[in-house]
Amino acid sequence: MKLENMFEQLNPMQRKAVETTEGPLLILAGAGSGKTRALTHRIAYLIEEKGVNPWNILAITFTNKAAGEMRDRVDRLVSFGAENVWVSTFHSACVRILRRHIEGLGYTTNFTIYDGDDQKTLMRQILKQLDMDPKVYREKAVLARVSSLKNEMVSPGEFSARSAGNFRESQMAEIYAAYQEELKKNNALDFDDLLVRTVELLKDDQDVREYYQNRFRYIMVDEYQDTNHVQFKLIELLAGKYKNLCVVGDDDQSIYRFRGADIRNILEFETEYPGAQVIRLEQNYRSTKTILEAANQIIQNNEGRKEKRLWTENEEGEKLRICAFETGADEAEAVAAEVASLDIPYRDVAVLYRTNAQSRLLEERFVHKNIPYQVVGGVNFYQRKEIKDILAYLKTIDSGMDDLAVQRIINVPRRGIGATSIGKIMNFAGANHLRFYEALKESYLADTLGKVHGKIKGFVEVIEKLREQAAVLTLPELIEAVIRDTGYEDELKNDDAVSVQARMENIQELINKASDFVIHAKDREGLLTRFLEEVALVADIDRTNEDEDRVLLMTLHSAKGLEFSRVYITGMEDGLFPSGKSVNAEDDSLLEEERRLAYVGVTRAKRALVLTWSRRRMVNGESRWCKPSRFLDEIPLELLEHYQASVWSSRQERGDTVQQQPANGGKRSPYSAPKAVFGEDAYTRNIGKQFTVTKADSLDYQAGDRVRHMKYGDGTVTAVVDGKKDYEVTVNFDRVGQKKMFASFAKLEKI
Ligand code: ATP
Ligand code: MG
Repeated sequence: MKLENMFEQLNPMQRKAVETTEGPLLILAGAGSGKTRALTHRIAYLIEEKGVNPWNILAITFTNKAAGEMRDRVDRLVSFGAENVWVSTFHSACVRILRRHIEGLGYTTNFTIYDGDDQKTLMRQILKQLDMDPKVYREKAVLARVSSLKNEMVSPGEFSARSAGNFRESQMAEIYAAYQEELKKNNALDFDDLLVRTVELLKDDQDVREYYQNRFRYIMVDEYQDTNHVQFKLIELLAGKYKNLCVVGDDDQSIYRFRGADIRNILEFETEYPGAQVIRLEQNYRSTKTILEAANQIIQNNEGRKEKRLWTENEEGEKLRICAFETGADEAEAVAAEVASLDIPYRDVAVLYRTNAQSRLLEERFVHKNIPYQVVGGVNFYQRKEIKDILAYLKTIDSGMDDLAVQRIINVPRRGIGATSIGKIMNFAGANHLRFYEALKESYLADTLGKVHGKIKGFVEVIEKLREQAAVLTLPELIEAVIRDTGYEDELKNDDAVSVQARMENIQELINKASDFVIHAKDREGLLTRFLEEVALVADIDRTNEDEDRVLLMTLHSAKGLEFSRVYITGMEDGLFPSGKSVNAEDDSLLEEERRLAYVGVTRAKRALVLTWSRRRMVNGESRWCKPSRFLDEIPLELLEHYQASVWSSRQERGDTVQQQPANGGKRSPYSAPKAVFGEDAYTRNIGKQFTVTKADSLDYQAGDRVRHMKYGDGTVTAVVDGKKDYEVTVNFDRVGQKKMFASFAKLEKI
């Protein structure tokens, strides 16, 4: 692309960011201000203007989806050689490095990557082996602890030394060490290891370090506010020689502290990299004025932040809508009904929520209404039983080093090899330092296992035969051979018809994926290993196909960096969003993180934003009463098209002071009779009663009078202002002090 053309698409500050190619650079700016755009243009500029070899550029983003988008943007900007730029997530960059060099760390290059499910299985085994009290040590909590230790780069050895003398901590250290050892034995790495091992490698191996330092002369990192310690270290090592490091982020969008993200990485960038230049962007190009103002208003309630205020030249746009429903099901129904009636493409719409579990109700309604949709997160395709089974076969065929994979399928389909036999084999393998699969071939088992041994032999034969076939078959053919020759398909058919069909469809989908992979593979070498690796790495968002017209349903976390014309944020209830934990916490740090999440959610919307909540919601099988999210209260009335009575009263119940009338009078009064929010019909059905406010002709009290309020008790009226739609009354209550309220809601009684 021509330089003038490229620069036409950028504002002066973005241009400066693009031209500042040498030395450390921090772009710190709010949502939708074109940070990612500046970053992609910078890549183009480096290649086209500075003649930098694309091979020398590394760009890192947070999700695969974001990496894909960046890849597209770069491809469009750069005419030649763009494919040589490494555009990748932290994790896939590490996999690429480890696949080449991991042998130095005692793994083989066809290592397996364990996902969350594999981790749990392994941890369960370890807790059992170590005889830990299952009431005290739950695998999920233990894994979270291990993960945070890894992210802080605390090794099992260090942790053990640190926890000497503390019983609980020592036990934890023992678990951590055993877990790590098992991973190593299985030639497996969990997601955190991918990063930790790469850092280790770069630290310890000078040759490898220098190779990558020379290679990546220009490094760019998007969403830097969400990097954790180990990611920080990785970047520090890679950028160690040239220090041409450009990081981009927004401290207001840091939403992964619970996973160890450290906001200091961005706030202290200038200290870590002396001489760093800092560029701030303030113009938002994404959202309407109304949406942006709502976001600004919400986030300014956070105390621990650097003040910045985004502005936009975009139009004022539609007002936001807040809608209340009786139940979560009503909410889902109304959202689906409205989405079905929109005249914009489905792909321009996203429905966001705080927790994955919330997708189910929405999904049901979307299916019911025949709306194409895709859930990001939730039950991952690759977590489905049949897919994991087939992948376990493929892993076993590929290397047989992964014990969990072999154990998963040794009796699937049923071969009469029970848990006791498997236990015996595990013991035998452990005692003789053998992989589980190797142990299966030992004749020793014939004596101990008797009849079962024949069955084990049968299993080994099947695998060995498939291994031979793997050399000649294509990948899709190999998968077909697996389900046919192992008897998997036959056993599946004994299941009920519906689930057989669904499962076969999933397997077919995996075969499609394999065909696709083979078609796009550059060379033939190690296809199976590479396929398994790719599959292990795909976050769900990867499965979304840009060309398909469908609504995306996802958590607020997954939505980071993305944008949509129309956004629904559902389940805006205190205790859900913000989460119960953050509401009940002693300090405000969790709540502030939730608020940043709200800021991320709101700023995803380009043109329209709808916020919904429900009075009742099923949580863990019981129906709970909910209050509207406090974040709703933080949006000024004048930005809302429609103000729900219940939100109103919740504000009063909480004893908050009623928001001021907007200085400009507001275009539409929020307390006017509500319009049908989700279409007349849906609205009346779901919300039950219409709520109308009528301004009284006159009030029977005035300034100086004593009045009584149902909740606040008695007080003295200090002012009455005649607004267009209602009277605004200020009362100094004896008990709770001064409150501003609207007459028709307050129902004050003169005493
Ligand atoms: P986030 O904080 O959400 O990651 P961001 O700062 O990375 O946002 P981008 O995604 O780069 O912002 O840009 C937001 C939108 O504004 C995109 O649609 C982008 O194409 C557009 N945009 C960015 N800069 C400009 C510009 N100078 N002129 C016109 N449009 C722009
Ligand atoms: Mg961005």
